[in-house]
Amino acid sequence: MTDMITQVVSFKDKPAIARASAILEAGNLVAAATETVYGLAADATNDIAVKKIYKVKGRPSNNPLICHVCDVSMADSIVHINETAKHLMEKFWPGPLTFVLPKREPTQIAATVSAGLPTIAVRCPKHPAMQNLIQALNRPIAAPSANPSGKLSPTSAQDVVSGLQGKIELVIDGGRTDLGIESTIISIDQYNTIKLLRPGTITADEIAEAAGQEILDNNDHHITAPGQLSSHYAPNAQIRLDATVKQEGEYLIGFGNIMGDRNLSDHANLAEAARNLFQTIRIADREADKIAIAPIPMVGIGIAINDRIKRAAAPRPPETNEGQPA
Ligand code: AMP
Ligand code: MG
Repeated sequence: MTDMITQVVSFKDKPAIARASAILEAGNLVAAATETVYGLAADATNDIAVKKIYKVKGRPSNNPLICHVCDVSMADSIVHINETAKHLMEKFWPGPLTFVLPKREPTQIAATVSAGLPTIAVRCPKHPAMQNLIQALNRPIAAPSANPSGKLSPTSAQDVVSGLQGKIELVIDGGRTDLGIESTIISIDQYNTIKLLRPGTITADEIAEAAGQEILDNNDHHITAPGQLSSHYAPNAQIRLDATVKQEGEYLIGFGNIMGDRNLSDHANLAEAARNLFQTIRIADREADKIAIAPIPMVGIGIAINDRIKRAAAPRPPETNEGQPA
């Protein structure tokens, strides 16, 4: 792939959304803001375009992508939605909740999107950048986070450019993302069992309450994907967790009472900590070779934050140092 100039345009620029849609229509990629992290978008019905996502990210091809839809009806055209899923979609969409559901057959969705699985992950984003892009294309958009595989997820247009400069034509800028971490992912199977595949800002407790049933942990190791690998979101620096005091050479990321070189949230607000998380690790990574992070309580959004920092701190495969599967 020859390198090109990556242009950043505002999501408020209507002709830019039309241009982005035309790029997708032609089978190429653009990045766009969502309320979680920036996504690397392709027309989900175009197999060649979807393969470009894997190539540009360096993502292992057995790791499925999320299909972004503009509403429940577009989701219904690609997956089977039972009563529980419908109820949860009505409650949490548009928003940061992804559903892994049985795919309709035959399907227009490229097989590479779900890496050959009989399910498809669907999400309806709220941010107008991605939402308007889906409406303009009028088809589902496959989009993982817009970063090289295994690296920190991008929460600003600048983060996207620093990882994918020259590899994509356009980034639709929607400012710093509101939520800062990727969507919550649940699966709902034919027995109506709900499993939490990835924690996010919508918590398992909130979903359980809305569904009126318990949410199981995912103990099915057959479903492997980047978000579920032990090492992911890897900065260059080593990370030490549960740090209360800064050691020599470390950059301390604080939380609440534990004041660091920078704090995720002075007032111990977990939503604010999630919003600042990847950005703060990026800054720390530029400043030091060792990063220490203060303890984050394992409650509410804290569960998702701990999931991300644990993966960022996990030992990396020695050769690539990139958090790729061994
Ligand atoms: P990312 O696009 O980087 O946020 O990662 C998307 C995540 O969605 C993957 O890491 C998987 O955990 C999950 N996912 C997508 N499709 C499926 C599927 N069909 N079954 C299970 N998990 C999925
Ligand atoms: Mg990702």
